[in-house]
Amino acid sequence: MKVTLSFDNGPTAPVTAHVLDVLAQQRIHSTFFVVGENLAQPENRAVAERAAAEGHWIGNHTLTHSMQFGDTDDPRVPGREIGEAQRLIGELAHPDRLFRPYGGGGVLDRRLLSPAAVAYLQQNAFTTVLWNSVPHDWDDPDGWTERCLADVKTRDWSLVVLHDLPTGAMEHLPRFLAGLRALDADIVQEFPPDCVPLHRGRLEHSVGHLLPC
Ligand SMILES: [Zn+2]
Repeated sequence: MKVTLSFDNGPTAPVTAHVLDVLAQQRIHSTFFVVGENLAQPENRAVAERAAAEGHWIGNHTLTHSMQFGDTDDPRVPGREIGEAQRLIGELAHPDRLFRPYGGGGVLDRRLLSPAAVAYLQQNAFTTVLWNSVPHDWDDPDGWTERCLADVKTRDWSLVVLHDLPTGAMEHLPRFLAGLRALDADIVQEFPPDCVPLHRGRLEHSVGHLLPC
């Protein structure tokens, strides 16, 4: 059983620094999908730089994390939410230009993408990274670990979405990782292929079910 960890919606300097400390102790590498506007604060920028320097991958999780592409017809949104965030991430970006859309609670549904967003991602050679395990750490900061450990047992390769946010959830990260070790999980940095519908702008899997009807 393989497990890939990802941390979304940060960086938020103190929490992200704690996550980095824990991952370093356990020699685990992951991906941080950052919200572009968070990088405007120097302490957040610094912790993102630390993450990249320590071997974690930095991905783009939109500029403002405020709307799903399927909820807007404004053709300027992909350029702003994806392109402007990528500009802010700058040299910290993974060479595959990793992008994860705003999930609005973690459900992979028809609001996730839009034809304009997919076209932008293709034209600008982005790699779109989705997920298959969302333990809702943000609304159950103490109970998410047990739920996630039960969930990762249900599939061969889980891509888990966690959040380096000040909810208290990340205080349980060491306990969660101990649980993964007890399951003999192989914790890897790569992504399960079925969670990556676009690779460097090339469509690998249909995204029709993620587009408005
Ligand atoms: Zn998010």
